[in-house]
Order: sequence, then structure tokens, then C-alpha cells
Amino acid sequence: MEIYLDNCATTRVCPEAAEACMRAMTVDYGNPASLHRKGMEAEALVTDARREAARILNCEPDCILFTGGATESNNLAILGAAAAYPRAGKTVVTTAVEHPSVSRTIDALEERGCTVKRVVPRPGGNFDPQDFLDAVDGDTFLLSMMMVNNEIGTVLPLAAVIPALKRRFPRLLVHVDAVQGFAKYPLNLKRLEIDLLSFSGHKLYAPKGVGGLYVRRGVRLKPVLYGGGQEKGLRSGTQPVELIAAMGAALALCEQNRAAWQAHYAALNARLREGLARLDRMPVNSPENGAPHLLNFSVLGVPSEIMLHFLESREISVSSGSACARGEKSAVLAAYGLPDERVKSALRVSFSRETTPEEIDALLAALAEGAARFRKMTRA
Ligand code: PMP
Repeated sequence: MEIYLDNCATTRVCPEAAEACMRAMTVDYGNPASLHRKGMEAEALVTDARREAARILNCEPDCILFTGGATESNNLAILGAAAAYPRAGKTVVTTAVEHPSVSRTIDALEERGCTVKRVVPRPGGNFDPQDFLDAVDGDTFLLSMMMVNNEIGTVLPLAAVIPALKRRFPRLLVHVDAVQGFAKYPLNLKRLEIDLLSFSGHKLYAPKGVGGLYVRRGVRLKPVLYGGGQEKGLRSGTQPVELIAAMGAALALCEQNRAAWQAHYAALNARLREGLARLDRMPVNSPENGAPHLLNFSVLGVPSEIMLHFLESREISVSSGSACARGEKSAVLAAYGLPDERVKSALRVSFSRETTPEEIDALLAALAEGAARFRKMTRA
């Protein structure tokens, strides 16, 4: 029995999305820019998906741009804003726990002369909204903060930070990397004054290589790619209609099942937390109030890689930190203030709509077996 518990890295595509993809490849296969009927059919699929994404965000459909994924959305948002507002200020405020597609893009701005302030989480894994209010000043042109951290699941205090900052600094641009929270938590962009928001399809039962960027009306961006002018000139290139249609179908399913799936993840999370508490020296690194679809914990005395491969031998897939870090020791976990011993032995388990309680029990049994074996070998 194969047990896949790495759904923050990517998810299995749902049948609804796979069918929409197949249909767009083989039936409605036109180019949405073409003026004939085949083109219009393809354009209709893109329009439907845009409406679906807009429904989740409570925004107008014309604010949604489709991209090749959240890495591209994050780059376009940050580099595009920096290029469009060259005289707006020189400081960027962000967090110390962003995904590399945000943190490295902001590092690139720092190399070009921007000042960067990185807000760190408080002990326990949560952020204090006041730390953001203190960090932003009149020279700050961009605040980029994620919605849910992808390594330990911290939910960032968007509602406590963004309106307060916008009142004080109306021209501040706010970007949110929402990949791990989008379609899981309600978001109302009519009320929350976010300017730019990135999301990705493959974390939500859609294929890899498609995502989106919300751009608030009136916000200007400079494109990163130049070409045929698709997606309002901000993402030139023929839209991958099959991927966009698949994402639309997956998003409709996510929206329909949002509350039920969050409850499902929460039950699995509680079961895993209870099981870990019964095992020896397996402290949880995720905050108590973290997002339910993932849990980070450490198996003290057993390096992450060793346990990961042991679990793999039992056909259980988990992650050590984030998939993008490819086994490097996580700088994000260190930024959370976790001691080295915990960082070195950290594992991230993340659930899908298909994960079962029996799979969690099988994981717990394998963790107990692996910990006993490797701790004995090293007398840890
Ligand atoms: N941001 C976060 C928080 C993520 O978890 C990920 C995916 N690991 C990304 C951005 C990048 O998304 P994509 O794979 O669509 O480029």
C-alpha cells in the first residue's frame, strides 16, 4: 500500500481536473487568441476558470492573470512592482520564512540596492502583527508576506497587519504568496486590501505548471516576459488552456468542499499529534493554531534523511522541510528559532482529501519502528 503524505509538495490531480484537461487538449484545442469558433471555445474555458478563481477570492475576474505557477507569479509580482514604481521608496519588508520564489527574488532586489527588512516569528511559531507595523515606514514600497508557511503551517496575521498598514501608508503595495492557504481559507479581497496575490494549481489537485496572480485594479506592473500581450500584456505566451481549464475544475471542487476538507485535515492532524505525543521524543514543531493540512515534527536523534528513507522503504512518502530545499537543512526552521537538533531531525507530513486515518496510524507505527532501530544504532 502506497501512502503519500507530501501534499504540500504536490497533490494527485483530481479526476474532474484530468477530464477537463483531456477535453481541452482533444476537443476544445483552439488558441484562445484566434478569432474563429475553435478559438472562442478555448477562450470560454479560460474565462470560466478565471471566474472560478475570482469566486474564491471575492474579486472581479479581470483581476486574475494566469501564469506558469506560483514561482512565476511571485517573480512577476515582486520584480514587476519594483520596475513599475521605481521612485516609490527603497525598502521592502518581508518575513524570514518565505518560500525561495519570494525570498530569492527579494534578495535580487537587495543586490540592486533595495533595503530589505525581514520580520521573524516569535517563539512558538506565530508572528506578532506589531512587528510588521514597526518594520514598515514611509520608505517602504512593498510588503511581501505569505499566507500560510509551507514548512510548519503558521497562518500569518494578514487581517491584523494589512488594513492597519494601508491606513497609515495608502501607497504601500502588499503582495501575498497565498499558495498554501488559497482555497483552504476564505479570502475576501473586496475587504482585505491586498494588491497582489499568488496561487498555484498543483497544490490543489490541478496539474503542475499553472497558477495565477491577482492584481488589484489600478496597480501597475511591468511584465517580466514580452511577447504577444496575452493576460493583459503581463504574461505573454499562448495560455495553456488545458492546464487552466483543469485548474478551474479543481478550484470549483475545492470551493464546494472547503469546509469539509478543512475538517478532514483537522481530524487527521489531531490524530497525528495525539499519536506523536504517545511516542518517545517526537516534539511537534508546528504551532498549535497552524494550518491543519500539514504537521512538522522532529524525531529526535534520527536525522531527517535517515527517517525519510526508512519511511520510503515502508512505501510512505513524507518530506524533510520543503521539497524545493531538496534535503538541505532548512533555513526557515532555523528562522523559527528551532534548536539545531530539531531542525536536523524534522519531518513534514501533509494531507490530501484522500488521506485516511489508517494511513496516519501506519505512519505512526513506522515512526516508532524507525526511531527504535536508529536510536539504538547511534545510542541517541
Ligand atoms: N510558495 C509557496 C509557499 C509554496 O509552497 C510553493 C510550492 N512549494 C511555491 C510558492 C512555488 O509554487 P510553484 O511550484 O507553483 O512554482
